[in-house]
Amino acid sequence: MTKTALFIGHGSPMNALADHTPAHAWQAVLRELGPQVLPGMRAILCVSAHWQTRGTEVFASDEPHAIHDFIGFPKSLYDVKYLAPGAVAEAKALSAALSAAGHEVPYTAEWGYDHGVWSVLAHLAPHQNIPVFMLSLDRKKTLDEHLALARAVGAALPEDILIVASGNIVHALADMEEDPMAAAPPWAVEFDEQIAKALEQRDWAALTEISRAPGTPGKLSVPTLDHYIPLLYAAGFTDAPKHLTFPYTGFDHGTISMRCVCIRE
Ligand code: ZN
Repeated sequence: MTKTALFIGHGSPMNALADHTPAHAWQAVLRELGPQVLPGMRAILCVSAHWQTRGTEVFASDEPHAIHDFIGFPKSLYDVKYLAPGAVAEAKALSAALSAAGHEVPYTAEWGYDHGVWSVLAHLAPHQNIPVFMLSLDRKKTLDEHLALARAVGAALPEDILIVASGNIVHALADMEEDPMAAAPPWAVEFDEQIAKALEQRDWAALTEISRAPGTPGKLSVPTLDHYIPLLYAAGFTDAPKHLTFPYTGFDHGTISMRCVCIRE
């Protein structure tokens, strides 16, 4: 087994639907990636942009349910059910291991699979038979603090638990084009490539030292950091991964980077 983490650019919840045409290539990549990374995995730890809390928490439930945390989408999207069992024992073990390492990360059963989780796992792990647990994003942590926690999480997890972090490297909703195939503006391409280069060079510090002064590609691309932060949990699990690939790249609606990253020790 090889310790593995994925960062999946998730974009619109509509990407979960099999008949959503612009997302077909992305869905196909996730469906090919699943059989490459899932065999032998006991559980999946998800880190979603859509679960933010005060302090960090770890979630799993014996009665998991999907959270439809959006409004104004077609009924078919609300009918998507992802009901993989909860990895409760793994969640509690991670909470205990992080506590022993000096990080207070309490266990909770009070959450569900938000669309950062199910829109991705519906294609990556469609059989819904691998137990899932989740780590929240602490709203108050700095990027450096997130990276430090990611390192502790990576050290605490056995190699048969797959990390799936879900967000977007560029997530500028206010500048989104209506056309899903619209070309990305230069600042979005620049930031997406800057982060890709940092990943290729294993320069984790560059991931937390992004310039976010007004008007910079970093500020325009991620006006808020919620969708960027999950990347740190995929990258941070190991210092020097042997393999790092981008299974999917490209933009939706011009300003949402759908870049996916696969990192293996
Ligand atoms: Zn999202």
